[in-house]
Amino acid sequence: MKKIIALVLCVLMVVAVLAACSDQAQEAADGGEATSDAAASSVEAIKEKGELVMLTNASFPPYEYLGDDNKPAGVDVDLMGQVAEELGVELKVVDMDFDGLIAALMAGKGDAVAAGLTVTDERKQSVDFSDDYATATQYIIAKEDDDSIQSVDDLADKVVGVQLGTTGDIYMSDDGMAKELKQYKNALEAAMDLKNGNIDAIVVDKMPASTIVDANEGLKLIGDAFGEEKYAVAVAKGNEDLIEVINKVISRLNDDGKIERWTAEHAELFANLGN
Ligand code: GLN
Repeated sequence: MKKIIALVLCVLMVVAVLAACSDQAQEAADGGEATSDAAASSVEAIKEKGELVMLTNASFPPYEYLGDDNKPAGVDVDLMGQVAEELGVELKVVDMDFDGLIAALMAGKGDAVAAGLTVTDERKQSVDFSDDYATATQYIIAKEDDDSIQSVDDLADKVVGVQLGTTGDIYMSDDGMAKELKQYKNALEAAMDLKNGNIDAIVVDKMPASTIVDANEGLKLIGDAFGEEKYAVAVAKGNEDLIEVINKVISRLNDDGKIERWTAEHAELFANLGN
């Protein structure tokens, strides 16, 4: 009889543990505090919750990186800080993998993606973009003593690192562009691997490329590998009132020359972090 009671208790415990696990899994799938309806990202809803949630990948200096206090800093953080101020709310920055940003925005896990995000036709099918606030091109980072890489054509027989889901990844994924493509979560991880000799080059946006080269000995830059790109802030489709506020702030910052100034300042701040 005792054995049977013990067995029943065991079974009950297992059931309880499993139920708790599935609750947690459900919460994770729901994205914790995620807001479910798109309207929750409208200006009124943001004001109501007192918080503007910016989604980013804080490994893309000078646009976003972890500062000396380990908090996200950078041009995009400053830009969205101004948008939050305009709305009279706090800015909350959520740091995640770059390749999950647009899906997270679409799932209502934030109000905007500000991540040195290039406007592309494909992305426009999923999200709405603000006016652009910066231009960029793809650059190559190679080892300083490697004379075999002079242009993008020389990458055809090289092992090349890119950031997963970025424009650099999209360009370099075309047939014959590289001997082997390694997709990293972010450019800082790729830079480590280049320094360690595991890859021959990295293709990444111009400002992060030059910021990384400035902050690391033994690396060099090769410019303008592909055409011009434009960065803008993305919001969930149909959030016109939020786009309006973001555009107003971008236009004011451009008039003041602030974005350019922040770009130089954050590049220097990042270099001084000793990454
Ligand atoms: N501008 C590039 C893109 O949008 C890279 C952005 C990033 O890595 N944060 O794909």
